[in-house]
Amino acid sequence: MDHRTRTPVVGMIGGGQLARMTHQAAIPLGQSLKVLAASPDDPAALVAPTVEVGHHTDLSALTTFAQGCDAVTFDHEHVPAEHLRALAAAGVAVHPGPDALLHAQDKLVMRRKLAELGAPVPPFAEVNEVSDALEFGARYGWPCVLKTARGGYDGKGVWVLNTPEGARRTVTELLEAGAVLMVEQRVALRRELAALVARSPFGQGGAWPLVETVQSEGICVQVLAPAPEASDALTQQAQDLALKIAEELGVVGVLAVELFETEQGLVVNELAMRPHNSGHWTIEGSRTSQFEQHLHAVLDYPLGSTTMTAPAVVMANVLGAPTEPRMSVDERMHHLFARFPHAKPHLYGKAERPGRKIGHVTLLGDHMAEVRHEAQLAAYWLAHGEWSDGYSVH
Ligand code: ADP
Repeated sequence: MDHRTRTPVVGMIGGGQLARMTHQAAIPLGQSLKVLAASPDDPAALVAPTVEVGHHTDLSALTTFAQGCDAVTFDHEHVPAEHLRALAAAGVAVHPGPDALLHAQDKLVMRRKLAELGAPVPPFAEVNEVSDALEFGARYGWPCVLKTARGGYDGKGVWVLNTPEGARRTVTELLEAGAVLMVEQRVALRRELAALVARSPFGQGGAWPLVETVQSEGICVQVLAPAPEASDALTQQAQDLALKIAEELGVVGVLAVELFETEQGLVVNELAMRPHNSGHWTIEGSRTSQFEQHLHAVLDYPLGSTTMTAPAVVMANVLGAPTEPRMSVDERMHHLFARFPHAKPHLYGKAERPGRKIGHVTLLGDHMAEVRHEAQLAAYWLAHGEWSDGYSVH
């Protein structure tokens, strides 16, 4: 409890953009997010007043940080499980708890558990030696997909194995470097979707509409809400699946279930147990944002309404240009609003580097194609300082 405001204190481990946006959602609830940041320049450390600087692998930093927190939650999944268990054993309300979070930390553990629950997953196998990958490829066909079980993000940690020769080379190299590997069938996917839900300790669950996550080179570039041409049956199936996973794993907080849509139906790709890039659109596009809902859930408040605020919502990531534009960010914002007064940019306070996620921009409207076009133009403009349709600023 914060003695000044008499409101609960939620502590978030990690000071990235998710913590930054969670702090923003905490303010109207009378709260102020407490943040454990790796550096005083982290996105959340720049905006939240209660910041401790420390590393998420340092148990003493975690223990000190947890003091006075009503709940401790995460901006990423990299806190070692043994540290989380130590905190939980000391009486800290860790949400999601270590047993649930393990399924977002380790893809092999996740695949095994989901298979056990009867959730649709691609065929997969653990890879301890080269022959494991070769046998898998011989059985399920090439190409197949090799992944590090732990520590990957945004497609770093994913390799397509096209041939046995290539597999031999890649697997040998990675095993020598100490990677924990798994292999899975390459899914013939039509597109990628995400089902976002939240669950409270009381057991209440809430789902947002199913969204499409548009990918380019392993990175999500746009999120379309609701997923275009998704039938009610498909949406219901995805939401039920995500709610069931949240329930079975005992998730507390937001759970994002990344899905592949195939000819045969849905397949689960990945789980994230925290606010997720596929849910940034909810800040303006839903009555309750994923950040606010995450706070509701970890504090065991009743969940908020997940109804959309417009028929079509598009979030586009702002990814750093190959070379930083000469025009300042400030000037780019100026011109963005001159052209699109309804655009909702969110800049994370990060230095611009090629391909780095430095922000996102959300547009709302009545027609998906139009909103999508505007979002694409706006995100490209913010990153590059150029209108990709040739529009002149003068
Ligand atoms: P990360 O944890 O790095 O985000 P993912 O497991 O989500 O990695 O994979 C990144 C991307 O690679 C996915 O979004 C998808 O486009 C592609 N991918 C991953 N697994 C498969 C698969 N089994 N079949 C086809 N494409 C895949």
